[in-house]
Amino acid sequence: MVEEHIKHTFDLNAVRQDFPLLARKMNGKPLVFLDSAASSQKPSVVIDAIAQYYKYEHANVHRGVYAISAAATDAFEASREAAKDFLNAGSAREVIFTKGTTEGINLVAAGFERAMLKQGDEVLISVMEHHSNIVPWQIACEQTGATLKAIPINDDGDLILDDLDHLINDRTRIVAIVHISNTLGTINPVKEIISKAHEKGVPVLLDGAQAAPHMKIDVQALDVDFYACSGHKMYGPTGIGLLYGKEAWLNKLPPYQGGGEMIKEVTLEKTVFNELPFKFEAGTPNIAGVIGLHKAIDYITALPWDEVHAHEQALLDHATELLGQIDGIQYIGKAKNKASVLSFVVDGVHPHDLGTLLDQQGIAVRTGHHCTEPLMRRFGIPGTVRASFSFYNTHEEVEKLYNATSKAVKMLL
Ligand code: PMP
Repeated sequence: MVEEHIKHTFDLNAVRQDFPLLARKMNGKPLVFLDSAASSQKPSVVIDAIAQYYKYEHANVHRGVYAISAAATDAFEASREAAKDFLNAGSAREVIFTKGTTEGINLVAAGFERAMLKQGDEVLISVMEHHSNIVPWQIACEQTGATLKAIPINDDGDLILDDLDHLINDRTRIVAIVHISNTLGTINPVKEIISKAHEKGVPVLLDGAQAAPHMKIDVQALDVDFYACSGHKMYGPTGIGLLYGKEAWLNKLPPYQGGGEMIKEVTLEKTVFNELPFKFEAGTPNIAGVIGLHKAIDYITALPWDEVHAHEQALLDHATELLGQIDGIQYIGKAKNKASVLSFVVDGVHPHDLGTLLDQQGIAVRTGHHCTEPLMRRFGIPGTVRASFSFYNTHEEVEKLYNATSKAVKMLL
């Protein structure tokens, strides 16, 4: 059941009440949670569904003939259908449950390593990738003798695409790019990249960890070949994620892991693998996570997206304007097309010290390299302070961030 205040209008106060953690205090102050890009908070519907499943509905899936197992299987597969609709995949066979974005990318990279890449081939990523979209490809390249290349970025944090025609060439086997950067907030022109890659017959994987919680995803309209995202950033549970893959590609890739569930028939000599999507889901899955994710998908798809988007953008604009008044502040990530992530450094102030003082004032922000060390190197900095805004944040919280940051900077300088 979807709450009325979500379905019809965006009532921020009522929405906040759906998220119990937002009401707590931190260090004696009302919590100002500005770290949703790392992991978002969970509405009660998600938490309650998980408790309900473990209390009264738990049994393994795809196995038992008894009623509770059949019901668990139905709930599991109903979540896959919801995920299919959420991503606008053509078929539920193209939706694989993973642990998260990291596992989804590893699944594809391992498949390419084993079946597609060889000496002299190239894999194209970008300088702004999260480590989870760098390291799996590095491993795949090291194992096969392929070369990892990266699209550069400019000082604003936009991809430099002038050279794309050369970067994607007849040696390129896959392009793997972040949809929205977790550090810069840049929304990349992925459609343009996909159509350039497809002109040359090259598939594209998008890391949608930050995009799935903030924009409508339509894998068919994007014509993307693989799309990975994480439940815990989409107001759902940790340890669960989605990998979309075009059926033709998923059929070409070898299984990621071997075990139960992913087989049709096993003899000691040979295994016949299960059909999609089960071929990629070895072992007992995260059933509670899948059920919780279904609730999260229902929750966010019922949001009035135009209003939500406008609210998140207004929070970003407000914060950008206010914090811009602080002497010595420098934004890392000034793309025109930007999601609600604000990364910054302040001259003479270590991001970690600033984050610690903000924590004492009840404000939760992220500090450090945000798992994007090559990006930090590009800007010549060790890390940033990152405030990330979700639809449940308020303008009052933005003002608190500004006041607390101004105060902290004065103390630290
Ligand atoms: N890519 C991006 C852009 C991210 O922000 C993150 C999480 N910070 C990941 C990938 C990895 O996601 P997960 O840890 O959920 O697998």
